[in-house]
Amino acid sequence: MTDALRKELREFLDGLETQGLSKKERVIVSAQSGLIKVQNPDGSVVDVLNFCANNYLGLADNKEVVEAAKAAMDVWGYGLSSVRFICGTQKLHKDLERKISAFLGTDDTILFSSCFDANGAVFEPLLGEGDAIISDELNHASIIDGVRLCKAKRFRYKHSDMAELESCLKEAVSMDCRRMIICTDGVFSMDGDIAKLDAICALAEQYGSLVMVDDSHSTGYIGATGRGTAEYYGLQDKVDLITTTFGKALGGASGGCISGRQELIDLFRQRARPYLFSNTLAPAVAGGTMKVIELLEKGNPYREKTMANARLFRSKMEAAGFDLVPGNTAIVPVMLYDEVKAVKMADALLNEGVYVIGFCYPVVPKGKARIRVQLSAVHTPEQIQKAVDAFIKVSRSLDDSRR
Ligand SMILES: *Cc1c(COP(=O)(O)O)cnc(C)c1O
Repeated sequence: MTDALRKELREFLDGLETQGLSKKERVIVSAQSGLIKVQNPDGSVVDVLNFCANNYLGLADNKEVVEAAKAAMDVWGYGLSSVRFICGTQKLHKDLERKISAFLGTDDTILFSSCFDANGAVFEPLLGEGDAIISDELNHASIIDGVRLCKAKRFRYKHSDMAELESCLKEAVSMDCRRMIICTDGVFSMDGDIAKLDAICALAEQYGSLVMVDDSHSTGYIGATGRGTAEYYGLQDKVDLITTTFGKALGGASGGCISGRQELIDLFRQRARPYLFSNTLAPAVAGGTMKVIELLEKGNPYREKTMANARLFRSKMEAAGFDLVPGNTAIVPVMLYDEVKAVKMADALLNEGVYVIGFCYPVVPKGKARIRVQLSAVHTPEQIQKAVDAFIKVSRSLDDSRR
């Protein structure tokens, strides 16, 4: 590396630091759960309640899941050292694909190392010049990157604005676009709102477009039995493609998939680059995920707790006068608007033993700073009360210090 480049990069990084934009990683010294151990920079360890994980069903440290992952390693080994099409497909992977298809009510499923990869795989084999991708402006970064990898025309509509979506479809049709796909997150991570899939599917049908939903923040707990946003709306036969992650509600390890219509999945198996050129999902992860789906098939008692905890937190926070983004998912954004206040409040909450994150521009729009609280099935009513009490205490002391 040249001295000039080193200096340039150092200045950029120092700039982030002085603007307070440098991301700091807190070090956890326990398993992921509702109550975790966090190591301070001085090496001391504190217990904190975790309200910022995507561990919606609380399965990240579930004993049965951990045992299933260990058992899978005993039988199938540690790794495959191969992509799927060379010598990386074990019966375990085929079984998991079938299991997920049955769970989601789809024709077939293809596994990836992450949902980031699944979203990187989905567009390029299917769409080229002369085709159109119509995307919600708040879609996840991995969808945006996946779209960049292909040559299709790109249309972006204002978040959940169905009139704008329809204008995009009309424009695509008037430009003689051949294949069209509408893509949306199922649950949006920063506002915790659910995509208007009913309207989206109706428009797709009217204009002859495919529908793809990224259910990463939904699979496992949205819908009557946790099968995601398509189940929530009763539209399982209308959604063509679902991408999702195993790294959130479904145990939280890693891995993801595309699930959907047979011809589409067959195409991805032949042509999706992250599938063809990246290693097979590790057996431990496949075995653990298999167990998670089995637990959910047996009635999914976890999602009831997740939803009840979210309702409990919401009602207590509303009663305390906090400004929440309305919704009915396990993501509860506490609006503060002021960026400095959001960051200070999250720091102060950690001192009170409540781990949450303040989100500011550019992750959310300017002037829309917030603390995002994520509820899990593992939280107890007492822990939720403690979090609410901490919010009240910290909010008062921040207001007092401004007077
Ligand atoms: C988390 C997330 C991803 C990425 O999932 P990984 O499996 O962690 O790569 C993709 N899409 C959405 C909407 C997500 O929330």
